[in-house]
Amino acid sequence: MKIEEGVELARFTTLGTGGPARAFARPESDREVEELLRWAAERDLAVAVVGLGSNILAADDGIDALVLKLGGDLAAVETSGESLHVGGGAANAVALHRARAAGLGGFEFACAIPGTIGGGVWMNGGAYGGDFAGVLERAFVATADGSAWRTPAELGLSYRHSELRHGQVVLRAELALRPRPPDEIKAEVRELNARRKEAQPTNRRTFGSVFKNPDHQLSAGRMLEACGLKGHRSGGAQISPKHANFIENADGATTADALALMIEARRRAHEQFGVRLEHEVEFLGELELPDV
Ligand SMILES: Cc1cc2nc3c(=O)[nH]c(=O)nc-3n(C[C@H](O)[C@H](O)[C@H](O)COP(=O)(O)OP(=O)(O)OC[C@H]3O[C@@H](n4cnc5c(N)ncnc54)[C@H](O)[C@@H]3O)c2cc1C
Repeated sequence: MKIEEGVELARFTTLGTGGPARAFARPESDREVEELLRWAAERDLAVAVVGLGSNILAADDGIDALVLKLGGDLAAVETSGESLHVGGGAANAVALHRARAAGLGGFEFACAIPGTIGGGVWMNGGAYGGDFAGVLERAFVATADGSAWRTPAELGLSYRHSELRHGQVVLRAELALRPRPPDEIKAEVRELNARRKEAQPTNRRTFGSVFKNPDHQLSAGRMLEACGLKGHRSGGAQISPKHANFIENADGATTADALALMIEARRRAHEQFGVRLEHEVEFLGELELPDV
């Protein structure tokens, strides 16, 4: 199995930022992942997976870890009765396309989530009233100590959260769907995509929602808009003029630029609304937000 050094993570994140990984590999089978996990354990090196990098903010000075990008068998999609068997590295869009072709509904919500199955399980991705917890039957998870199937309860799925930690790799998942005519699925996906395009900067480089919605009458986006942050810039990053809970790579942004915007957004939300916003985006590497 080829292990590369110094691969820039900016190539693998939708924001287009992030420094080099100490080690990087592209496993295509369970056996290869298991070998890599052992290789890292022998060196006491952390392991992290990148899916489509659509929810990752990676440190500019790099990540002291073995970073895995799943492919081959680990990105395959098959149907079996009313179940979809999907590799952890399969894109949601591919899984949704296969489900539609097989006349299986229930995964339409994922048309709005530009990630992989592994990333979706990791943070219980969801949109428009659906989420992974609602369709996931079980996931096969590898660790340096062995691999096992886990139920949603064992994975601890809740709002944009699971109990998964780096070093645990979602190799595949089984999704329980239900029969639905492909035309109906297509029509719903078209409508959801149109709603998304209307409200969010879908044609910009972002990592999706920056903050989780707080327990407040205002969503994170509305709150940051009320703080006057739409269009606010730091270096090459800006708070989206279209939706204030998105950060765009406007012009050669770095992770430090995005982090500076997050710090300012949290400061203002706390000052104006007394709310401590929690980040939804996953940090890779030595990144931290100071307390407000
Ligand atoms: C324009 C835009 C819109 C978005 N809208 C939504 C939305 O509506 N709802 C929503 O929930 N999210 C949304 N997101 C965020 C993002 O798409 C989701 O969080 C998605 O599930 C991330 O998947 P990914 O494969 O890109 O994971 P990554 O971003 O690559 O990784 C995210 C985390 O998952 C871990 N991970 C990834 N794959 C695996 C694996 N196989 N095994 C173990 N860990 C793994 C990573 O280590 C990391 O910690 C949006 C993002 C963008 C850019």
